[in-house]
Amino acid sequence: MTTDTPLLSSGGRVYLVGAGPGDPELLTLRAVRVLQKADVVVYDNLVSPGVLDFVPATSERIYAGKRRNEHTLRQEQINSLLVKLAHEGKQVVRLKGGDPFIFGRGGEELQTMAAAGVTFEVVPGITAASGVSCYAGIPLTHRSYAQRCLFVTGHLKDGTADLDWPSLVRLNQTVVIYMGLNGLPDICRQLVAHGASPDLPIAVVQDGSLPTQKVVTGTLADMAAKVAQAGLESPCLTIIGDVVKLHDELAWYPPGQPAP
Ligand code: SAH
Repeated sequence: MTTDTPLLSSGGRVYLVGAGPGDPELLTLRAVRVLQKADVVVYDNLVSPGVLDFVPATSERIYAGKRRNEHTLRQEQINSLLVKLAHEGKQVVRLKGGDPFIFGRGGEELQTMAAAGVTFEVVPGITAASGVSCYAGIPLTHRSYAQRCLFVTGHLKDGTADLDWPSLVRLNQTVVIYMGLNGLPDICRQLVAHGASPDLPIAVVQDGSLPTQKVVTGTLADMAAKVAQAGLESPCLTIIGDVVKLHDELAWYPPGQPAP
C-alpha cells in the first residue's frame, strides 16, 4: 500500500468504533460523540439501525456488508476505502457490531491503517457475550456455577466447527460461542462426544438486546431440534454451562414484564 501522503498533514483519521450488540442505549459516550462528528461512516451488517440515528443526516454512510456468504465489500476493498477516505482528510468512522477487537477483524483493519500511516483511534464496544447475556438474564460467571468463561468462534471450516473440544468440556465454566448457529448440531454432538453431559444447559439467543430478541434454552441433547423448531436466524449467540439455569429466574428483557 502506498503511503506517500502522511495523514497527519491532511487531518484525516479513522475511528474504529464498537456499536455494541444492538440496543443503541449500549453505545459508549465516546462512540456517540465520534459518530456525531463523522464525515463518513463505514458500517457492517450487525450495526443496528438505531445506532445509525446518531450519524448526522449530512454525513455519508457506506454499507460494507459482511453477512454470512455475502461480503458486499471484500476485506481488502474495505481497507483501501478507509485509507483513501482518511487521506482525503475525512473523519472516518469504521463502525462494527459489538466490540471491534472481538471476532471483528478490527485488528486486521488497523494493521492496514498503521502500514498506510493513517492516524487511528479505537472506541471499545459492549461485545455480544457481555450485552446479549445480560439481556438474556444469564450471568456468565456465578460463584455456584462458573469460575471461568471462554469466548470462541463456531464459524465453520470445511463444514465442521474446528474447536479445541477438551478445553470446552471442563467443569465450572461457561462457553460463549459466536457465529455458531450453523454449526450448532455438530457443536452439541462434539461436546457430548468429548465428555460433556448431554444434560448440560445451553441457550441460544437471537437478536440479543433488540425488541426481536428470542431466547431458546435446552440441553446439549435437545438444543439442535429446539433451535430448528424455533426457526432462529442469525445473529445468534450460544451460551453453554450451568449458568443458563439462571435464565428462568433472571430474565428481565423486554423491561416492564412481570417477573417470570
Ligand atoms: N465484534 C462482535 C462480534 C462479531 S462476530 C462483538 O464483539 O459482539 C458476529 C457474531 O456475534 C454473530 O454471529 C453472533 O454470534 C454474535 N452477535 C452479535 N450481535 C448479536 C446479537 N445482538 N444477538 C446475538 N448474537 C450476536
